[in-house]
Amino acid sequence: MLGPAWRYTKPFYSNYNGYMDPLARIILKPGKEQSVMRLHPWIFSGAIARIEGNPEEGDTVALYEHTGEFLAMGHYQKGSIAVRVFSFREVIPDEGYWHQKLRNAFELRAALGLTGNMDTNVYRMVNGEGDGMPGLIIDYYNGIAVMQSHSIGMYRLRGLFSGILKEIFKERLEAVYDKSENTIPPKAGLDVKDEFISGNQTIVQVKENGYLFSVDVGTGQKTGFFIDQRDNRKLLSRYARGKKVLNMFCYTGGFSVYALMGGAHLVHSVDSSAHAVAMTEQNVGLNPEATGIHKSFQAEAFGFLSDMHDQYDVIILDPPAFAKHQDALANALQAYKRLNARAIDQTNSGGILFTFSCSQVVSKDNFRKSVFAASANTGRHVRILHQLVQPPDHPVSIYHPEGEYLKGLVLQVE
Ligand code: SAH
Repeated sequence: MLGPAWRYTKPFYSNYNGYMDPLARIILKPGKEQSVMRLHPWIFSGAIARIEGNPEEGDTVALYEHTGEFLAMGHYQKGSIAVRVFSFREVIPDEGYWHQKLRNAFELRAALGLTGNMDTNVYRMVNGEGDGMPGLIIDYYNGIAVMQSHSIGMYRLRGLFSGILKEIFKERLEAVYDKSENTIPPKAGLDVKDEFISGNQTIVQVKENGYLFSVDVGTGQKTGFFIDQRDNRKLLSRYARGKKVLNMFCYTGGFSVYALMGGAHLVHSVDSSAHAVAMTEQNVGLNPEATGIHKSFQAEAFGFLSDMHDQYDVIILDPPAFAKHQDALANALQAYKRLNARAIDQTNSGGILFTFSCSQVVSKDNFRKSVFAASANTGRHVRILHQLVQPPDHPVSIYHPEGEYLKGLVLQVE
């Protein structure tokens, strides 16, 4: 029994199970079926020849080739991505269907050793397209599930998902928070507000690889914490012993805590946001066994690097997405180049640079070219030691390379 959560959902309508209205049918232009047949989950509005029926935003629709062949089912929305496909087979997307999808997502995290893990109780439970649920993110924070919908279809199902999460996690779930206010386009007119679907706890202490962090899911960026850097932070701790470390764009201080716990002698954490600096200090304080010195600075990155003139043994650069759209790409690549050149300049001989880009529109190749140009500008010899990606609880559908957003390089500067 899912109880009142059901009131958030519209009834399913299907021409398969014999009740309610038939699904609207979307017929693609000739040739536009190719990408769907290669299992790419997005249908752009320009690919649509005609719509039969009158789908509302978020409704389930069926997709057909111009010849009338069935292709897929997905959620309809007005905008550039008109349909997000959740099934390439004819299905009845009822409670049992979504339950199975969430169960599959949970089973993957269990196979990765993330569920019931004493050292790590924060992970991504659903990663949109990578879990066959385009437009839906669910992160698990030691008892709080934070849901973020990027599509109206997924948003309308939030009550259903909350009930299913309770069935899957049982007593390991105390609250479900919906954080879609900034991810559902306001033009949809839904007046979306961040809110609890169940429970009411926003601040939670989580453990990642045995280290403690306080997370505020209500005010934090994204769903509260950058879960996607878990493995990369662990790698950093291996390079930290006895070193002088700069964590630029520290946010909640993830890399700072790992550096200190890895035995760094001194860590400087920098962020332009006062709130981020405060959270970093709080999280450093939660892990008191570290003996190194920690200092944090509220400062703008380029200004700090220019004013400080300090040399570091290890530098981490994990900036926000410099390009959110394709038209900002050229400027973003320039910014990556300038930032990395600065950091390489300020790395001690034999030092290490962890450098990242989380912009979806910046490809791995483009990012690497920017770092190449930055290295060349400094004239220093630079070697690639590791090439980093997002961790496996952020899976990427091989048919949807756009889902691969996080890329990083670990460089040694001679
Ligand atoms: N490395 C972090 C995530 C970084 S998010 C982690 O592991 O959790 C990016 C951070 O960059 C944000 O906290 C934001 O406040 C900060 N930021 C954005 N622009 C900045 C700038 N110009 N200078 C310094 N910090 C900046």
